[in-house]
Amino acid sequence: MSTEVVEKVHCLIIGSGPAGYTAAIYAARANLKPLMYTGLLQGGQLVNTTDVENYPGYPQGILGPEMMEDFKKQAERFGTDIRFGIATKVDFSTTPKKVWIDDTKLLEADAVILATGAEAKWLGIPSEKRLNGSGVSACAVCDGFFYKGTEVAIVGAGDTACEEAIYLSKLCTRVHMIVRRDQMRASKIMQDRVVDTHNITIYWNSETDEVLGENVVEAVRIVNKLTGEKTTVPVAGFFVAIGHQPNSAIFKDFIETDDQGYVITAPDSTKTKIEGVFACGDLQDKIYRQAVTAAGTGCMAALEAERWLSEKGF
Ligand code: NDP
Repeated sequence: MSTEVVEKVHCLIIGSGPAGYTAAIYAARANLKPLMYTGLLQGGQLVNTTDVENYPGYPQGILGPEMMEDFKKQAERFGTDIRFGIATKVDFSTTPKKVWIDDTKLLEADAVILATGAEAKWLGIPSEKRLNGSGVSACAVCDGFFYKGTEVAIVGAGDTACEEAIYLSKLCTRVHMIVRRDQMRASKIMQDRVVDTHNITIYWNSETDEVLGENVVEAVRIVNKLTGEKTTVPVAGFFVAIGHQPNSAIFKDFIETDDQGYVITAPDSTKTKIEGVFACGDLQDKIYRQAVTAAGTGCMAALEAERWLSEKGF
């Protein structure tokens, strides 16, 4: 690795979703002179969605990419230095903390706010990709409303899938739940709720053969793994709820993560095990994963960074 440039930063923010931008707004207004590196997906997961209707302040709803553009403008208005680049390596064992961007540029930061988010896991079948955003979604709470009064399918058998299936069952006429084994991974109470919901049909030992539809989702073909039997079920929406992958790989040698890779922070705090390193948004939240909760923890991270920097006299 050839390190070309070293730059000193007071408050570095890695990631540009709702958590990162909110941290930037608060940090800039507190005169922490934040520098943000956006990561590859500028604006985070919301730039891959269409309408956002559950973020307060947008009574008519807003397109995900437009909303993130608003976040960006607000962060810039208070002086955040926003740059495109990917953090590729860190060394949090030193003071200041070291972060390499694109394997070349070295930053030395007094405080670092990690807001690199998470990515939904996908099945990996071509029709799922082709119809993404046209009936295929990885977030029932975000998109379920668009399928009110229709039949939908959901894949997965963890707590998220159960929670989302129940959420969808209140909006949709029927939810077809595709479970790949003869049992669910979800907690017993969630499983019981799903089984007891009259308009959820569970397909055990089953996989998604294909999502069908020309321009929008029209049906799903389900295959029973034991019998090989294929069933085509007409649906308007296809939800994938098979887990998320937090973007924490480069931090793992320095900060604590759980068995799924989510960064562990102190209770009611964004503080990580390393002093001066804070984590917010979907990188450390596997429960709520909403733009508004990510923004909330982004705010917390900036406030905690500000307090820490002033306590340490940086
Ligand atoms: P999990 O990893 O717990 O579950 C993923 C589910 O998806 C499993 O049932 C798995 O099947 C299934 N799956 C994985 N890959 C495929 C595939 N290719 N095809 C079909 N099915 C697949 O993820 P969750 O997002 O559900 O939960 C993550 C964590 O968050 C958990 O610890 C959970 O308890 C927690 N959580 C807690 C909530 C709460 O407390 N209210 C709410 C939501 C999440 P298999 O079982 O066969 O491996």
